[in-house]
Amino acid sequence: MTGPEGTPTPVTTVLCPEWVLPMTDEGPFCHEGWAVALAGDRIAAVGPAEALTARWPQATRQALPKQALLPGFINAHGHAAMSLFRGFADDMALGPWLEERIWPLEGRFVDPEFVADGTALAAAEMLRGGTTTFSDMYFFPEVAASVALKAGLRAQLCCPLIQFPTAWASGAEEGLRKTLALRDEHRDSEQIQVAFGPHSTYALSPEHMIRIATLAEELDMPVQIHLQETAAEVEDAIKAHGERPTASLERYGLLSPRLQAVHLTQVSDGDLERLQRYNVSVVHCPQSNLKLASGFAPVARFLKAGLRVALGTDGAASNNALSMLRELQVAALLAKAVAGDATALPARQALRMATRGGAEALGMDERRGQLAPGFDADLVSISLAGLEAQPVYHPESQLAYSLSDSAVRHCWIAGKPVLKDGTLTTLDEADLIRRAERWKHRMGAA
Ligand SMILES: [Zn+2]
Repeated sequence: MTGPEGTPTPVTTVLCPEWVLPMTDEGPFCHEGWAVALAGDRIAAVGPAEALTARWPQATRQALPKQALLPGFINAHGHAAMSLFRGFADDMALGPWLEERIWPLEGRFVDPEFVADGTALAAAEMLRGGTTTFSDMYFFPEVAASVALKAGLRAQLCCPLIQFPTAWASGAEEGLRKTLALRDEHRDSEQIQVAFGPHSTYALSPEHMIRIATLAEELDMPVQIHLQETAAEVEDAIKAHGERPTASLERYGLLSPRLQAVHLTQVSDGDLERLQRYNVSVVHCPQSNLKLASGFAPVARFLKAGLRVALGTDGAASNNALSMLRELQVAALLAKAVAGDATALPARQALRMATRGGAEALGMDERRGQLAPGFDADLVSISLAGLEAQPVYHPESQLAYSLSDSAVRHCWIAGKPVLKDGTLTTLDEADLIRRAERWKHRMGAA
């Protein structure tokens, strides 16, 4: 650990939980009586608590009794500002839900103030649930970036690229210009990663898709896209272009390790072979897929094919929560039902998907997703002290099948506490609730 002048960054804190789940390749999945030493924004060491406290006696020793410490969750897909639409329109299929309810409402209300308030509400909920990095795809991503910076959250901002005019851009051309400007603004940021966010193959012209592929390769930028979310999307693509959306993406030059394909509930053998050949990442959003009856992503097949698979909550309007604990629980259960195999997606693998899997899919795995020396000090501590967690044979079982966000006690990002014993340190919860209520009155009146 060295600072800017080559001097070692001192270890200031040693976190001493009951269990450490480092998500590394070596050693057991869960260590009892281990600790994690933090130096500035990085992890300095992970090992037996006695050894670490003896090595750094000056450091503050923070006891985390009956708590499990693991890498912060990575929510790999969402539309944060849509939290303000939570519960506005439920129990509808994707098509009419978007066309009759969401798009008209967005057309009337989405502006920088909406995005600031909605993203801050989402950021608070995510921090409260132990998420330390989130991926966002929504209008005014520059506003979401400033909210993330203020909240101390790390973000991948996928600039929304669609053909038709929106409040943010007059079309794909302006959207692309703004994407590149935002990327320049944050190119040296440790907290913000900017990505292309073409909404889907049906929302953008082939010419623009090809442009995005060229720019992404030149600038080595990630691309995130909704892909094969429903059977209707695939049928319409075959009618219009004579091929499945994944085949179109291959033709546009967009299939690559930089591509993050969201949803994929409809997957043919040919699709899977393409995804594998180009080493594409998959973002699985099981609760959104269930709620909109979009279909079931064959996660066990993705994993067997060696694909990088991350988890995302999608927007709160189609979930309706941004809880990664809940998402990984549903993922673990649904994978078994879809595969007809109770051994599909075990607890450990679901937890890995919510942490290291997210880092891999978003191209951040050299620094995030594991508790190991040199990695970012992004951690979450979850209590297993409650009734619903007893008795604790295997902590991963409680995390994957028993607990909710109320068990999340602490959260650190870049070594800074952003959630302290259940209380947010960077955002004002009461103010966020007041703002959400104001939006309810404005939109409810419309
Ligand atoms: Zn989405």
